[in-house]
Amino acid sequence: MYALVTGCAGFVGSHLTETLLAEGAEVIGVDCFNDNYGRRDKLRNLQRAMDWEGFEFVPIDLARGDLFDLVEGCDTVFHLAAEPGVRASWGDRFEQYLRNNVHATQQLLEAAVNSPRTRFVYASSSSIYGEAETSPTPEDVTPRPISPYGLTKLSAEQLCDLYHLSHGVNVVSLRLFSVYGPRQRPDMAFNRFCRAALDDSPIEVFGDGEQTRDFTFVGDVITGLLLAARAPGVEGRVFNIGGGSQASVNDALELIAELAGRELRIRYGEAPHGDVRATCADTARTEATLGFVPRTPLAKGLAAEFEWMRALEASQAALAP
Ligand code: NAD
Repeated sequence: MYALVTGCAGFVGSHLTETLLAEGAEVIGVDCFNDNYGRRDKLRNLQRAMDWEGFEFVPIDLARGDLFDLVEGCDTVFHLAAEPGVRASWGDRFEQYLRNNVHATQQLLEAAVNSPRTRFVYASSSSIYGEAETSPTPEDVTPRPISPYGLTKLSAEQLCDLYHLSHGVNVVSLRLFSVYGPRQRPDMAFNRFCRAALDDSPIEVFGDGEQTRDFTFVGDVITGLLLAARAPGVEGRVFNIGGGSQASVNDALELIAELAGRELRIRYGEAPHGDVRATCADTARTEATLGFVPRTPLAKGLAAEFEWMRALEASQAALAP
């Protein structure tokens, strides 16, 4: 396989890149080190991939266009680059969401127009559903995002559909549900919770903690991405990628307290605009068509993220003056 991974220095993209390289693929990775979090974190994510001969890193901004050479000759484009996060998508930063989620996707789709054999796997989000009227939520409910982030992810998904229908781009979109695991973004809940549990510092929870999510371990997401890349006859289709571990934020905090071996200092605050009360993926279509079954229960996946954070904190402490 000859693959292009956009967002290769990010949380999900760096795991995907390493898995592809380990399977013998040649990978071109693109990332612009967007400022949603630190460049140092993203360089660390890229470290292992850089050791592979089959990896080429291209540090460019997709929204600037001229991407034809990158896409040409690839079997698969995995489009993961984006401006993620619900809370930051209100206010002034919305411009970044438009640029990195909508405009960048359109530029990449333009480049894919001349490559109808190239499978284009787009990482969409459960945020496109908003407060879904059906739970578990199947793919064919009417999407009603309640955050600017969700709106831009839906726009990009619809652009994928448009380029499939009008120009024959070989698109498959995956709606990922709350991804967690080692390298999770620093703005995401489990990353903040694990760090605070290790440091014995206060944990800020948005809302009452009774909101539930279909938490999906990053390793299961990578499996879903690879299945979508290889499945025949699924062009133009959309699939949910859920973890099968629906739990509340308070359930996750209890597990983290057990892992840390201490009581957590939790402060409950306001639920921010755009945060949905519950998400739950109906994965019947994904299982029947792609053969996707999530394998990692929440307790096991959280333990992996906690151990990653413990090792990261220890290495940072060793470097401190
Ligand atoms: P991330 O921020 O860790 O990774 C995204 C990467 O894309 C970053 O390294 C960033 O620098 C890069 N990027 C952004 N704009 C770019 C541009 N214009 N050109 C080149 N590179 C650019 O985020 P993540 O959590 O790994 O998310 C990966 C994808 O999965 C995103 O598309 C996100 O919307 C989607 N998703 C994530 C989750 C989750 O829970 N993490 C859930 C649903 C969907």
